[in-house]
Amino acid sequence: MATILIVEDEAVLRETVSYNLKNAGYQVDAVETGEAALKAVKERQPDLVVLDIMLPSIDGFEVCRQIRRTSSIPILILTARDDEIDRVVGLEIGADDYLTKPFSMRELMARVKALLRRREILQEELSGGQPGKSDVIQAGELEIDLGAHRVTVAGQEVNLKPREWDLLVFLARHPGLVCTSDQILQNVWGEDFFGDSRTVAVHVHGLREKLEIPGDGRRHIETVRGVGYRFAV
Ligand code: CA
Repeated sequence: MATILIVEDEAVLRETVSYNLKNAGYQVDAVETGEAALKAVKERQPDLVVLDIMLPSIDGFEVCRQIRRTSSIPILILTARDDEIDRVVGLEIGADDYLTKPFSMRELMARVKALLRRREILQEELSGGQPGKSDVIQAGELEIDLGAHRVTVAGQEVNLKPREWDLLVFLARHPGLVCTSDQILQNVWGEDFFGDSRTVAVHVHGLREKLEIPGDGRRHIETVRGVGYRFAV
């Protein structure tokens, strides 16, 4: 059973959301502050976070950013004002979806369900069944160990953000094939994600900086102009 963390300082809304999620069969943790949210994410590793933006002290933007440093768990943002929506949609913070207040519980449930299902499909796609010894993808000096969740370049371990890992594994599982930005968004971020091709471009850029050996000139992720990206074999 999935565990959902709700972060909302308004008691009535927090209770209403908790009540409805519990009724739908989810385990629910409810907290009032950003600090408590970060602690709960670390300690209890929920499967999804419902996160309000306007919180006392650390706001939802900052909470989202901090979660994203270590985790790619789905984050559904609750937002009230137009200027917040602009920042959420601007993708600065790495949320997966957002709902504008006031929203119906039915809408919330639908989004939660969709995010969890998408996550499940992605996990299956990324793990490709049981990890074993053969689950190592190699391309030149680059080695991706799917079982150990480890990437090395010329024997040196590379630290990837969770989303960079997801993106790399997705591309590397389709070597030589051109994947369009839309296909990447659908598979790595989920089809309801509100981002666009810039999101993919930014992450590809980040990956290249981490994976490429200076002076080597080899590109592991090639840009196919006007089409998308390809993992070079
Ligand atoms: Ca609030």
